[in-house]
Amino acid sequence: MKRGSISIVGAGPGDPELITVKALRRIQSADVILYDRLVNEELLGYAKSDVLRIYCGKAPGLHSMPQESTQQLMINYAAAGCHVVRLKGGDPFVFGRGGEEALEAAAAGIPYEVIPGITSAVGAAASAGIPLTHRGLAASFAIVTGSRCHDQDSPVRWDALAHSVDTLVIYMGVSKLGEICDQLLKHGKDPLTPIALIENGTTVRERTVTGTLGSIGKLAAAMRISNPAIIIIGEVVKVREELLSLEKTVRSQIG
Ligand code: SAH
Repeated sequence: MKRGSISIVGAGPGDPELITVKALRRIQSADVILYDRLVNEELLGYAKSDVLRIYCGKAPGLHSMPQESTQQLMINYAAAGCHVVRLKGGDPFVFGRGGEEALEAAAAGIPYEVIPGITSAVGAAASAGIPLTHRGLAASFAIVTGSRCHDQDSPVRWDALAHSVDTLVIYMGVSKLGEICDQLLKHGKDPLTPIALIENGTTVRERTVTGTLGSIGKLAAAMRISNPAIIIIGEVVKVREELLSLEKTVRSQIG
């Protein structure tokens, strides 16, 4: 019997062209693809015609397939000799539970690999014209989850983040935007700190709203920004405004 294997693959942030060559090759050779909600389904079009496609997506609050069942399917198909691609939005090791899946594959003695993807912070920031680091403005950035505002066991250290990191990028945070801003303000962050929300970054449905820590709550509510979206906080958000204003000036000079 042919030996099965597992590829834990990052599909990139949304734009189907932002996938690596290696990831695309694994999609093309897969027998089974277990894919998540944030994966652009256009990518499945590259698979073999007889590939088995299994949706394992989770909408916030709704679990269509528990993580344990997904992992079990992944192991079972690989043990039966299939090349299984576990396709995940962004990068598998950034809030993607890819670590758990790698551990499961290793424990089952199944050959596996992890193929990185462009994580949504990096993809959306590039698309919105916000450099995560910028000479003179930011020399560090942190990627943080916004979904653990009330987690007693592993709370996010908003006090430390408010002062020790130049750019904060928050995943899974739009529904907690008010609490996140409150935490940062409480720990001394300036209410005038620039902030951007990027919804559906890198896709044709991308929308960006910018404001300040003090003003963004109302703006986001008025624009009904919802998931998937990332929050970027820091002086680097100003670079987007600068780019837009330069582009406007050049357009008016040409036209
Ligand atoms: N592994 C993924 C993250 C999964 S967690 C990655 O590396 O990108 C899910 C969160 O990712 C969402 O709540 C949202 O904050 C962010 N996200 C995913 N795709 C996004 C996109 N196209 N635009 C903005 N945020 C996105």
